[in-house]
Amino acid sequence: MEYMICSRCIMDTSDAEIIFDDQGVCNHCLRYDVLKDTRTIPRENAAKEMKLLIDKIKRRGKGKEYDCIVGVSGGVDSTYVAYLAKINGLKPLAVHLDNGWNSDLATKNIHKVLKKMDIDLVTHVIDWNEFKDLQKSFLDASVPDGEIPTEHAIDAILWKTAGKYNIKFILSGMNFATESLSVPAWAYGHSDWKYIKAVHKKFRNSSLSSYPHFGFMYLFYINFVKNVRIASLLNYIDYDKSETIKLLERELDWVSYGGKHYESIYTRFYQGYVLPEKFNIDKRRGHLSDLVNSEQITRTEALLEIEEPALSKNMLRDDKKFVIKKLDYTEKSFEKMLSSKNRTFREYPNSYSFVQFLRRLVNMLRKFDLYPK
Ligand SMILES: [Zn+2]
Repeated sequence: MEYMICSRCIMDTSDAEIIFDDQGVCNHCLRYDVLKDTRTIPRENAAKEMKLLIDKIKRRGKGKEYDCIVGVSGGVDSTYVAYLAKINGLKPLAVHLDNGWNSDLATKNIHKVLKKMDIDLVTHVIDWNEFKDLQKSFLDASVPDGEIPTEHAIDAILWKTAGKYNIKFILSGMNFATESLSVPAWAYGHSDWKYIKAVHKKFRNSSLSSYPHFGFMYLFYINFVKNVRIASLLNYIDYDKSETIKLLERELDWVSYGGKHYESIYTRFYQGYVLPEKFNIDKRRGHLSDLVNSEQITRTEALLEIEEPALSKNMLRDDKKFVIKKLDYTEKSFEKMLSSKNRTFREYPNSYSFVQFLRRLVNMLRKFDLYPK
């Protein structure tokens, strides 16, 4: 395929499924324009809408020990969501997935900030042998979806904790202005149990019985019978990340990691090494494109930033050694995996069409204010 880059953002043909219009604008920019109204709130209405949401959460959680769940990773976004919940008088329960890859700093940050804010924490420690097999099966499947086992398990423990404690809201740290881009060719499957199961089955014959998971029936039950809702709190405010980092450092003694999603060693290595080396995917490109579309940086600034190396050579070398050992690869078998032919989720059983249908459904509900932003 001939190299092309979008004339508005910096997405390019490293997304194998990208499409450009006559003006050279990509499908991600066009999608951004379509979704903008359903996912963002005009500045003049933001405070009012935020208050409505907070009041609703309080009302539905009246008399209960907790009225909302915050999934925490130790990163900026989720820490700030916990902070916002607290200062707005909510009663959050923090939930954390320990998948074995936390950096020490992340674990320290989580405990420190939650203690400061007096927020209870439930940590789900995953069965390492099961999880290791699942992570390896995604690497061996040669698909760029290696973070899906973690993302699916996080969603599963959030939904299930909400069900268990009868909590009606899950506050998400996702925010449309800086991470709206969805590129199926770069990562797919966080709510597709059929796909996850199929990849595991093809490459391992171990058990997955304690791995936190959910199917569509459970999703329907928790959303429409238990009426649990996800609210992306950061969509209700003017979110300025660098100001937020300063605030967290000042108020909560939170310590910065020096990079997006670096709280997990696997994520850091996967995004900084496996994706670029094996799949020619640089996730920063999507993130920077979001910042261009939400007018936080210019396209020229984004183009300059993407030229910078994502990780230092020393950090990469150490991480690589660590990951190979922890996953029980040998250098040779790891290199073999890296050089095997790349594939996509479409070559394995999956529920892609149904997932797309569900996403459209939720966005339609948002349009009529029947689902939080
Ligand atoms: Zn674009």
